[in-house]
Amino acid sequence: MEMNDLQPIILPGIPARRPLVIAGPCSAETEEQVLAAARALAAQEVKIFRAGIWKPRTKPGGFEGVGVEGLRWLQRVKAETGMYVSTEVATERHVFEALKAGVDLLWIGARTSANPFAMQELAGALRGVDIPVLVKNPVNPDLELWIGAIERLYNAGLRRLGAIHRGFSSYDRTIYRNQPQWHIPIELRRRLPQLPLLCDPSHIGGKRELIAPLSQEAMDLGFDGLIVESHCTPDEAWSDKQQQVTPDVLCFMLHTLVVRETTQ
Ligand code: PEP
Ligand code: MN
Repeated sequence: MEMNDLQPIILPGIPARRPLVIAGPCSAETEEQVLAAARALAAQEVKIFRAGIWKPRTKPGGFEGVGVEGLRWLQRVKAETGMYVSTEVATERHVFEALKAGVDLLWIGARTSANPFAMQELAGALRGVDIPVLVKNPVNPDLELWIGAIERLYNAGLRRLGAIHRGFSSYDRTIYRNQPQWHIPIELRRRLPQLPLLCDPSHIGGKRELIAPLSQEAMDLGFDGLIVESHCTPDEAWSDKQQQVTPDVLCFMLHTLVVRETTQ
């Protein structure tokens, strides 16, 4: 399927130049934590805020997200900072709640995009919805499964779609939390040239030091944007603490990125 009528992720007020930046904590933890991160990021010119409300954790018993209560905090972020807000959805119910709360952009996580039943359910819930939806690669390095997940949304009428490269799970220990295997998103771009492509250096790297070099690599490879985890006190984060950076560090990193004018 060619999907040649896909539309760019245009949100009024967002600069058209690369990279499109989405930043915010891995998880919404408390109202204060969400607002503090949002204010600091807004001051650094970040226009799209991210925070996970429902968290797909590997094992039960850990922090699994604050749930719908966090949507009210995102509404406050919008009202107080003027940022667009985004969150992860994994079920029909999540979509319903997020849309009702006025969330501006949704992303689908790597565990969900690996599941065709879940993707089909989400496509049904999103039918006719006109907000950007970004699909992370499945945890396993399966390009067809990734494209299939995107196609299910496309078939439900969605056109403001995008992909997020967050690396691929491997049993082998390497410096990465998830292997970049850059040839896979590059092949996705060859197959779907109009599909906006973002990189998530936080989940690829799994540690702070890797965020800058991975972001630079993504820019060099022509990626359109970055989604980065940022928390005011990363060492105290309730999830993914090693890979979150403060808004100041994020800003420094964004300013040191070398970005060529044109893509491809
Ligand atoms: C996240 O973005 O916090 C997340 C859970 O990511 P992934 O689906 O890539 O593991
Ligand atoms: Mn995370």
